Amino acid sequence: AALLEVRGLRKSFAGVKALQGVDLVVRPGEVHCVLGQNGAGKSTLIKTLSGAYQPDSGEIFWQGEPVTIGGPVAALELGIATMYQELDVVDGLTIAENVFLGHEQATGGVLHVASANARTQQILARLGHSEISPRTEVGQLSAANKQIVSMARALSRDTKLIIMDEPSAVLDSQEVENLFRVVAELTEQGIAVVYISHRLAEIRRIGDRITVIKDGKTTASGLSVADTPTPHLIRLMTGREVANVF
Ligand code: ADP
Ligand code: MG
Ligand code: MG
Repeated sequence: AALLEVRGLRKSFAGVKALQGVDLVVRPGEVHCVLGQNGAGKSTLIKTLSGAYQPDSGEIFWQGEPVTIGGPVAALELGIATMYQELDVVDGLTIAENVFLGHEQATGGVLHVASANARTQQILARLGHSEISPRTEVGQLSAANKQIVSMARALSRDTKLIIMDEPSAVLDSQEVENLFRVVAELTEQGIAVVYISHRLAEIRRIGDRITVIKDGKTTASGLSVADTPTPHLIRLMTGREVANVF
């Protein structure tokens, strides 16, 4: 059964048709890559799934039920967390304070520092990063470790899907390896990952299935990564044949 199903999603901004019929089916525990060229509509898609934008039309099903994702809190309550390109972590706070920031906002309650630190340490261990202290100030972290904070926040609640918008764009090659390890940890825990990228090599490394978006439309939905040749993916993504590209 699908965890998330999107059918015929459309979204326009003054004069720009960003999404013109996007379909996407994500299964529990898979790495589902969304592939598309710059401007294809990838970020607009994930912003509608994270409640930042409202679609003009189309349907979204979550665990089989039709849903409206009215805002960022609604997305989190469903179990959808998003790791944006512009990471939404607060530099002046510790990792633990960042991880539990949303809880205080949601519940109006105050979480005690010792408890937040202990729980954050456990979550960092789940992500394979027990070497990072939950007391570290986030402003001192690399972009890679800020991503870890964002994922730790997702794991601090009952998250079933983490959407990552081009996470490797800000990482060096060793950091990308670490990210892939963390993604594997997440999926082993049954969490699905929607991984936005235009880098075919990394999609081959970590992706289970691929949805391709071109000019705001899905050109292929849920292809198996292992069974889909690269020239075919490039054709779906660009609309061009690649026979002469070496
Ligand atoms: P991608 O993430 O695949 O590069 P985007 O979803 O960012 O693509 O953009 C899709 C199209 O929508 C582009 O033409 C972009 O310029 C336009 N667009 C995205 N966000 C906005 C916005 N807030 N206002 C106006 N146009 C936008
Ligand atoms: Mg984008
Ligand atoms: Mg896997």
